[in-house]
Amino acid sequence: TITVEASELTRQYGSRAAVNDVSFTLSKGEVLGFLGPNGAGKSTTMKMLTGNLAPSNGSVKICGIDMMERPKDAKALIGYLPEQPPLYRELTVDEFLTIAARLHRVSPQHIKKAVDVAKQRCGLTEMGKRLIENLSKGYQQRVGIAQAIIHNPMVVILDEPTVGLDPIQIRDIRALIKELGGEHSVILSTHILPEVEMVCDRVQIIHKGSLVFNGGIDVLKQQR
Ligand code: ADP
Ligand code: ADP
Repeated sequence: TITVEASELTRQYGSRAAVNDVSFTLSKGEVLGFLGPNGAGKSTTMKMLTGNLAPSNGSVKICGIDMMERPKDAKALIGYLPEQPPLYRELTVDEFLTIAARLHRVSPQHIKKAVDVAKQRCGLTEMGKRLIENLSKGYQQRVGIAQAIIHNPMVVILDEPTVGLDPIQIRDIRALIKELGGEHSVILSTHILPEVEMVCDRVQIIHKGSLVFNGGIDVLKQQR
């Protein structure tokens, strides 16, 4: 099953294309690494995939639903952790995830269950009553991932999820992302090659706005 279909995605800023003619598909349960250096066009691509930025050209379909034609329906199938996640730091984990569930239109009678499941999947079961501002950066990032999966989306998109974390936190977050595969299609946007090698089934490399590689992790390792 194809969960994400990006066709000829382009985003111009003035005369420059930040993203140029990017096409790819993603299958159910696949973990795709979207790899490239800073400024390559990763965030711009992620924002177009999630419907947060209009493409200058091209289209996005999520499980066959066109993002331009039916944005609400398409967005409902996506969970997104932006590079700078909007965490409401003065809330507890439970309060924040409850709001996230409402925003993602989880029905009222299912919200408590959804919060519990998301906490359990992200190793936050003991953290519900804690203020987000008092959590370590690693646990704050778990909360970021928990809000992205709170509505059990088909597709989870994570933009540079390990930046600014210490080595132990990075190891734990990577393990968590790997576990999301199978349940969800995952796109991991990162500039870190070993991260892709550890976590992903397939990698696409973006360079100056264009895709320059698309293949299995094994192929990538052989080329090193
Ligand atoms: P990455 O996420 O790979 O670091 P971005 O997608 O953020 O790359 O940026 C790709 C290019 O587009 C960069 O050169 C960046 O400066 C430029 N860019 C991104 N957003 C804007 C914007 N709002 N206006 C103008 N240029 C932008
Ligand atoms: P990222 O690291 O996520 O690629 P950046 O640090 O490049 O983000 O950019 C932060 C914000 O500034 C983003 O919203 C991006 O769209 C915007 N931006 C980036 N480059 C430019 C630019 N050259 N002109 C205007 N806005 C930009």
